[in-house]
Amino acid sequence: MPMPSAFQNRLFPKLTDIAQHFATPFHIYDEKGILETGASLKQQFSSIPGFREYFAVKALPNPSILKLMQSMGFGFDCSSIAELALARSIGARAEDILFTSNNTSPEDFSAALADGGCILNLDDISLIPKVPEMPETICFRYNPGPRRTGNAIIGNPVEAKYGITHEQVIPAYQMAMERGVKHFGLHTMVVSNERNHAYMVETARMLLSLAADLLTSLGLRLSFLNIGGGLGIPYRPEEDALDIASMGVEITELFREFKEKHGYMPALLMESGRYMTGPHGVLVTRAINRKDTYRHYVGVDACMSALMRPGMYGAYHHIEVLNKQASPQDKPVDVVGSLCENNDKFAIQRPLPPIEEGDILIIHDTGAHGHAMGFNYNGQLRPQELLLRQDGSTARIRRKETLDDLFATLHFEETILRP
Ligand SMILES: *Cc1c(COP(=O)(O)O)cnc(C)c1O
Repeated sequence: MPMPSAFQNRLFPKLTDIAQHFATPFHIYDEKGILETGASLKQQFSSIPGFREYFAVKALPNPSILKLMQSMGFGFDCSSIAELALARSIGARAEDILFTSNNTSPEDFSAALADGGCILNLDDISLIPKVPEMPETICFRYNPGPRRTGNAIIGNPVEAKYGITHEQVIPAYQMAMERGVKHFGLHTMVVSNERNHAYMVETARMLLSLAADLLTSLGLRLSFLNIGGGLGIPYRPEEDALDIASMGVEITELFREFKEKHGYMPALLMESGRYMTGPHGVLVTRAINRKDTYRHYVGVDACMSALMRPGMYGAYHHIEVLNKQASPQDKPVDVVGSLCENNDKFAIQRPLPPIEEGDILIIHDTGAHGHAMGFNYNGQLRPQELLLRQDGSTARIRRKETLDDLFATLHFEETILRP
């Protein structure tokens, strides 16, 4: 099942009260589930010294969640000035932060290097002379091009705007060494939402092979290899989970072999977002209308502003109705928001139990790239975020947006350029 049953057991008995107290709609995240997933991730890679997860802040950019990551010793993968500011707001500094930008601006570099700096992950060879002052540690993002196929979601690496080519690897490290960089890493991200662990193992193998090349040609020992994010989760009930244990065993074995052959072992970094928080969040929304025209519609009090993935990618998010069991007699409905866009649908022709006005719907797997992707088109406001804590209490960790928030950018000092 997409949403872990332990999360269901913790949440569902309380959900009517939570919905009454906080009012719908809201995303709610499961503290215990996030901590358990983090602990298990660390466990799988504990034989590789220096293993560290850098949580991809863009997946769930809420300080309360980032603090959970921090409590597990994780760092943060940031790709914008706002994400840097968020990570630093909870005390992350220097090697706690990886800055993985692309099409990087001078402002991005200044922000990344200010306030204790960070590990810079450079997306292109042309950026080397543009870094105002090189930090001690940098890495490059590698794009294997035709050497890898990527997966259906992230697409063909040859068409991806990210990273340096295979031929640019040696010159890039050489140039950075000449600029005085002391420690190096190597990064790549070739898949997204991939549940076949063999992809990640291949990625580790590919980076280790480049590490061997760099040792031979430049005498360079890489401090770390970063295999990126992209670990997948099952959004559909019939899908298998990623075999994280096999991934851990197989990657650890590759690192061991590398050490035997080359006399040193780089650390392993990863920057998962979805895997860490995706299944540990749900969007809770209430049915407010039913409509029977050419199709049957259930209108809910949330819309695309809370969750873009179905409308944007046609992504499947499993839906349950609180206290109603699915059955083979269920009739297909479209579950819709109120935005003036026909793709504002959480589900299309989905068999669901008969829904009445007032029923509570649970939309699964919104813990990553859910609230964060929300937008304000059509003046639709983003909902609040709640945290179901380990002690059973529920806390609001972000309030819902207001019209004042929406109109804030209309208050400014007038300035006119006269002809
Ligand atoms: C988006 C992103 C991630 C996180 O991806 P997930 O699919 O959430 O694991 C990690 N690294 C980079 C560079 C990204 O752009």
